[in-house]
Amino acid sequence: MKPTISIVAPVYNEEQGIEVFIQAVAKEMSEQQLSWELVLVNDGSSDATLEMIRDERTRHPEIEWVDLSRNFGHQAAVTAAIAHARGDAVVVMDADMQDPPALIPQLIASWQAGNQVVFARRIDRAEKGLRRCGFELFHKLFRYTIDFPIPPDIGVFCLLDRAAVDELMKLPERNRFLPGLYSWIGFQRAFVDYSRDDRAAGTPKQTFKRLLKYAIDGVLSFSYKPIRLLGGIGLCTALASFALALYFFCKRLLGYESAFTGFTTLVILVSGLGGLILCAIALVGEYVARIYDEVKMRPGFIVKSTSIDNDQSRH
Ligand code: UDP
Ligand code: MG
Repeated sequence: MKPTISIVAPVYNEEQGIEVFIQAVAKEMSEQQLSWELVLVNDGSSDATLEMIRDERTRHPEIEWVDLSRNFGHQAAVTAAIAHARGDAVVVMDADMQDPPALIPQLIASWQAGNQVVFARRIDRAEKGLRRCGFELFHKLFRYTIDFPIPPDIGVFCLLDRAAVDELMKLPERNRFLPGLYSWIGFQRAFVDYSRDDRAAGTPKQTFKRLLKYAIDGVLSFSYKPIRLLGGIGLCTALASFALALYFFCKRLLGYESAFTGFTTLVILVSGLGGLILCAIALVGEYVARIYDEVKMRPGFIVKSTSIDNDQSRH
């Protein structure tokens, strides 16, 4: 039978924390008078995560699992999780307890009040050090770089109504930035605030490199500003050089000797401009690489096996 609420989460090498998460979700949902399922997507874990999920399923029949053929990364795994949800509303969250299951009742209450995209908004986060600085810097800069209004301090943690899920799943892009896509699809939206805890167990599975790609995906898929900025810099440089040329030309006409004969100036100018041009090419390359990814049309993820009967998910 189709459940009313689907809670979906990606898991990658989470053997230390998965039981705590399942129990916390089961506790919250047992207090709701609603049918539910918990869809866990195993994103190519190399530890005992999947065996533990299977074992938990004997105690909690609401659990469904989807096993991907390898590690596809957080955004792909979350997309796979949403694609397999069958509920009328889907709660998307991480499985490391950083997105607190205790917030689920509030998300559901907001959905029952008629909201279709309910964002969980971080008002504080427990992470420390470089990681925290990185996250904060990204969210501050992100606001100014995007063309499209995406609410600040949101992540993948949210509740989506079935109508929103169906529209989200129609978007074919591969380099996904889900918080942006949640906003892009529109619908009646609301916010529920929370403090982001530290993970319950284990270490973060998102490497710095992956987080950086995610941040760049976020900017490039929602903004042409980087390209326009390049155009602006190029125009300013060209105008400045034209003005300089005019200045020296006039000076020569009036009979003065050229002021600069310096080799150093020349080297600095040439190498500086060369560097600027290479940066510009690299930026255009980032857009082109993403276009190439899209035209290859490889699926975002591949499902190896699943516990869901008649699995007809789209990806
Ligand atoms: N995760 C995943 N695939 C990955 C990396 C992470 O499915 O390649 C899962 C992970 O198990 C967790 C969630 O995505 O449930 C968030 O990962 P993590 O806590 O490492 O990210 P962070 O909170 O640091 O952004
Ligand atoms: Mg985490």
